[in-house]
Amino acid sequence: MNRILTTIVILGLFIMNRCESKFADKIFVNGTIIDADGSQLSGDAVAVTKWKIVKVGDQADLVPICGKKTEIIDLKGAFLYPGFSDAHLHVEGVGKNLLNLNLVGTISIQDVQQRLKDFLVKNPDLYWIQGSGWDQNDWSTTAFPNHSDLDASADERPIALERIDGHALWVNAKALALAGITKETPDPEGGKILKDNAGNPTGVLIDNAMNLVWKQFPPDSPKQRTKYLLAALEHFASLGLTEVHDAGADETTLSIYKKLERAGRLPIRVYAMAYGGDIINFMKKHKPVATDNNPFLTIRAIKLFADGALGSRGAYLFEPYSDDPENVGLLTIPEKDLNEIAETAKATGYQVATHAIGDSANRLVLNVYEKILGENTAKYRWRIEHAQVLAPSDIPRFGKLGIIASMQPTHATSDMPWAAARLGAKRVRGAYAPKSVWDGGAIVPGGSDAPVESANPLLGFYAVITRQDINGKPTGGWMPKQILDRSDALKMFTELPAYAAFQEKIKGRLEPGFVADFTILDKNLMTVPAKEILQTTVVMTVVGGEVKYRATE
Ligand SMILES: [Zn+2]
Repeated sequence: MNRILTTIVILGLFIMNRCESKFADKIFVNGTIIDADGSQLSGDAVAVTKWKIVKVGDQADLVPICGKKTEIIDLKGAFLYPGFSDAHLHVEGVGKNLLNLNLVGTISIQDVQQRLKDFLVKNPDLYWIQGSGWDQNDWSTTAFPNHSDLDASADERPIALERIDGHALWVNAKALALAGITKETPDPEGGKILKDNAGNPTGVLIDNAMNLVWKQFPPDSPKQRTKYLLAALEHFASLGLTEVHDAGADETTLSIYKKLERAGRLPIRVYAMAYGGDIINFMKKHKPVATDNNPFLTIRAIKLFADGALGSRGAYLFEPYSDDPENVGLLTIPEKDLNEIAETAKATGYQVATHAIGDSANRLVLNVYEKILGENTAKYRWRIEHAQVLAPSDIPRFGKLGIIASMQPTHATSDMPWAAARLGAKRVRGAYAPKSVWDGGAIVPGGSDAPVESANPLLGFYAVITRQDINGKPTGGWMPKQILDRSDALKMFTELPAYAAFQEKIKGRLEPGFVADFTILDKNLMTVPAKEILQTTVVMTVVGGEVKYRATE
């Protein structure tokens, strides 16, 4: 009897050894396995072959697919989630922040001046000075700064510093002179040149007026831009992100992505939205790039801007700003252009993702989408990016029409100190309202809008379940009716970005056949006290079965 059993076992092993593909390439063991909705899957192990999940279960059940060459990765009790995705950020902007003058977190103009001084000392040969990340709302005097604050520091070198939201540019007198901006210069369409009481330009340019200065700056070389992109993507991997949606990649960026993808150098997945230039011609010339075969780069969406941002009062509102009664913000795209671009997108198979912050901008985009897509709006999965300030009657339209509301939970907790002043008590109730939009039946993928906010997905998760800042303020959360539960919050950063990318059948959950993208953390996000979420460590980031980041022990 024993001999027969032994023979069967040996025969079995022989057959399995002959057939290598039966064995998994890797098995991650000793973990707690948590799916997109926060439910714990039974078993402590996940087996991976090539870039796919083959099985989730107990280690003991995976023995038959564990061969000689199978690599065992011990998770030592860590928590394995589907790979986290950020549905809206700006890759190159983050890279620039990482490698250029970084003004994130500055608390005063003096603070900016000090960082600028240090940067100039470190870069004596640099002529064109670029920086980003300032936010006057974080300063003791929250008025916009002036070119004179910068004029003393750079001895005739042009300086251009982008506001944290990318919707305002603060420049010195040299840069104004190079751009030929004077008292007489009119505002360009969709932009504003801020001027003082005497009519002189202050050195702050809003939205489309920023181009007047940027046109003067020599463009970054593709080599430099490659450095920005890679620095950012590596950074995202270290934050546990396995994919990002790049909300605006011009043709040069797209061609860099393609090169990196072909060379196998993209550390994480990129869902790139094409932006800028002659976008109609772009869509006609280039077929969408999409595959279900371990996609590291997908190009099947275009990015448009309908208005500016709330922080720089460029968001397009029905009624004037409550703290600026003459101003309703800026519509940055004529309706006729939006129509024409959207028609072409429908005809060429591109998804449209339009930035809309103000209530008026949001309604315009909803109307155009509805008009152009007709009956089957939902199947096109068109998106509104931010969907930040909504008229109450527009909130249920997202769900009804199947228009994706791509929202960023940390905008709420960053903007809450001043949002009510901008919008007034009544209008603010329809702002930063993911729960209302969700309850209306809409798909609400989560993002960070980095570099406007930190790209850390744990901050987004924390913000949407607490509506508090990192110090736990205000108690009970800001507009607490907008709090989402943890299960929905996890979906926001896993399966919903996958849906928004048309990849929910291969990505965003832990199922056999799905991509082996894992975010592995040292804490259980479903049960840990909220304040400890921000002390969570990324243990490992796995993309397509490959470990792309590992915490140093
Ligand atoms: Zn953005």
